[in-house]
Amino acid sequence: MQRRERRRDDDKTHQIGDWIPKTQLGKMVAEGMVSTMSAALATRLRLREPEIVDILLPEMADEVLDVNMVQRMTDSGRRVRFAITVVVGNSDGFVGVGRARGKEVGPAIRKAIDIAKLNLIELRRGCGSWECGCGKPHTLPFATEGKSGSVVVTFKPAPRGVGLAVADIPKHVLRMGGIRDAWGFSKGHSKTTVNYGLAAFEALKRSTEVRVTKEQLAKLKILTGAAEVKAIALDSATAAKILERSRRDDRIKEKVRAVERMLSRKAEAAGEEIADDADAAEPAEEEPAANGGGQK
Ligand SMILES: [Zn+2]
Repeated sequence: MQRRERRRDDDKTHQIGDWIPKTQLGKMVAEGMVSTMSAALATRLRLREPEIVDILLPEMADEVLDVNMVQRMTDSGRRVRFAITVVVGNSDGFVGVGRARGKEVGPAIRKAIDIAKLNLIELRRGCGSWECGCGKPHTLPFATEGKSGSVVVTFKPAPRGVGLAVADIPKHVLRMGGIRDAWGFSKGHSKTTVNYGLAAFEALKRSTEVRVTKEQLAKLKILTGAAEVKAIALDSATAAKILERSRRDDRIKEKVRAVERMLSRKAEAAGEEIADDADAAEPAEEEPAANGGGQK
């Protein structure tokens, strides 16, 4: 009797709510062997299940950065598709940007959020401004640059209290990652907002890849990842609740309305040129396979 029961439990060992992890990393998270996002990324296993991020960073927020509406005439008539760019972050050392397309706004937003989670990076923060020296991880440890399409974004460390002296789109990306002070500069077509977001993300990503010495780590007070997030003591009922919350429809509906507002603002700004503009704004494709390679 006891044995049979144990076996039945074994089958469900990894299941949390509706989620049955398929990847090694997913199973490790469900088992509680990996209990922080830092540890998950440190395994070097590929992050392929957004649920991993939901569980390890339950404080995660998401925001639509940009939407493009692409209209196309085909033999069978007019087709409209939406390309949506989303940023996700915990405001404390983790941020991701994702992009997805779809015939409907809602599902495209959901897909973009999932892709952003799979693109998550662990930021480096510090006190890299020579004018500051406060020693807290409030800014970038050093200057960094990122490029997407024709847009080049440069961020520089700023002293405490400066805030985010950068354009709107990169500001969302920095804020979502928990960077409070920075100077930002950009070159290229300012109209292509999506490239702005992608270039900002690229800049942050690069700053995590730079080799730093022990002396630099100490001098710039470099902190990798979260300052406050603690390990999750996972019980599966709580984890299931977290997953359920992140899948809720009302959140997406709110975002659909935000996207509609964004589209009408763009339409007003561009007049009848919107369709052409949307095409021109398409960046070089650099999306993970999870996106299923949308129509080009
Ligand atoms: Zn400082």
